[in-house]
Amino acid sequence: MPTVLLLNAGFEPLRVVSWQRAFTLVFQQKVEILEEYHECVATVSTRFKVPAVIKLRRWVNLKRKMPVIRFSRANIYVRDEYRCQYCHKRFAERELTLDHVKPVVRGGKKTWENIVAACVRCNQKKSDRSPEEAGFRLLRIPVAPHWLPGMMGAIRMKMAPPVWAPYLSREEENFEYLNA
Ligand SMILES: [Zn+2]
Repeated sequence: MPTVLLLNAGFEPLRVVSWQRAFTLVFQQKVEILEEYHECVATVSTRFKVPAVIKLRRWVNLKRKMPVIRFSRANIYVRDEYRCQYCHKRFAERELTLDHVKPVVRGGKKTWENIVAACVRCNQKKSDRSPEEAGFRLLRIPVAPHWLPGMMGAIRMKMAPPVWAPYLSREEENFEYLNA
């Protein structure tokens, strides 16, 4: 059975839920159905089309629902969009390294706010200096993300049915908005 895309009342994708969970939300009248699959679920008396995209009737505060994203090498790369934050170019994962913006020797910590993706060359050039001392300008001030493009990107690539597509593209708009 296919999975179901749950949107917030403002159309922002929230998460992917099972079709059983989707039906529960429908019967509780918490959501409206925006898209349906061709597949049906039959009960003793009737048949229901399986929803493909559902939207909450009441807006849920995203701040409360925001997931805590694990600090990891892979997630830093995703946050920084595989771009070296010093030369601003894109690299393959194997060509990237993690760099302490404030060097370890000066007490720089391994946190979302102090670690960025850097290519090998820039990392070596920067060495134990601050970005300014090395003549670099950070592409973005590093912050702890509440949302990563890869979260929806992964869905889009691997398992998103075509019927979700118009709703997932909105997520990127929202992401731009969150970054603004
Ligand atoms: Zn670089």
